[in-house]
Amino acid sequence: MNLVLFGPPGAGKGTQARRLVEGRGMVQLSTGDMLRAAQAANTETGRRAAAVMARGELVSDAIVVGLIEERLRQGTGAGAVFDGFPRTLAQADALGALLDRLGQRLDAVIELRVDDAALIDRIAGRFSCGRCGEVYHDRARPTRVPGVCDVCGSTGFVRRADDNAESLRQRLMEYYKKTAPLIGYYHAKGLLCPVDGLGGVEAVGAAIDALLARLAAPRRGRERALDGARESP
Ligand code: ADP
Ligand code: AMP
Repeated sequence: MNLVLFGPPGAGKGTQARRLVEGRGMVQLSTGDMLRAAQAANTETGRRAAAVMARGELVSDAIVVGLIEERLRQGTGAGAVFDGFPRTLAQADALGALLDRLGQRLDAVIELRVDDAALIDRIAGRFSCGRCGEVYHDRARPTRVPGVCDVCGSTGFVRRADDNAESLRQRLMEYYKKTAPLIGYYHAKGLLCPVDGLGGVEAVGAAIDALLARLAAPRRGRERALDGARESP
């Protein structure tokens, strides 16, 4: 099963992607994580992307599609969760073509619906484990033991350089201009499944699990899932 987790910056895509990886053995394909890894490794791609990311603008379609293509060719086992990709119509077309060539398809696009006030709050409080990447929030999702990662026990944490008010303003603008049009694109393809992203991490995870259970149902799974999604607030 291949899923896109869709939504604005801070909606909770990475958090829910990690949950799907843990619970279902899926593979998280986050272009943001790939670009940050390229930066940390000081590759040509990383160097080219760094300034663009710091400004909160989108990296070129060619770069991110190249990263995704390379990763997809390595195989994705139980399926891929695309997180932060696609972000433009060109990327969405490229993803469809790539999956076609690999004899695969996209099963659903899960749209996490979160308002701007919650996004600002979530981004302002975000930090993650420097070793395993687990994502936390100062108030909504602190570590169980202060200063110690729940998952790997590390005591080193990082805050993203682009999680500041100015970059976030730009990232939101990019989202509304270039990424939000994909909602119509995937709705027209019958793949869009909106989920209320305003609840807590567990509540949103439960809504996604319920959606995936409907999708996996033997007959008319997708139609039922979409009906259910449309009925939810
Ligand atoms: P995205 O990948 O969409 O940018 P993240 O998964 O990194 O978003 O989440 C952004 C911040 O919001 C993190 O600090 C995370 O711990 C927190 N967060 C994620 N989901 C929720 C939620 N349902 N309720 C409250 N905070 C959340
Ligand atoms: P994210 O980790 O998803 O919040 O992404 C961080 C930054 O990486 C974004 O603000 C963009 O600069 C860049 N980026 C990540 N994914 C993409 C993508 N699919 N297309 C273009 N730029 C991206």
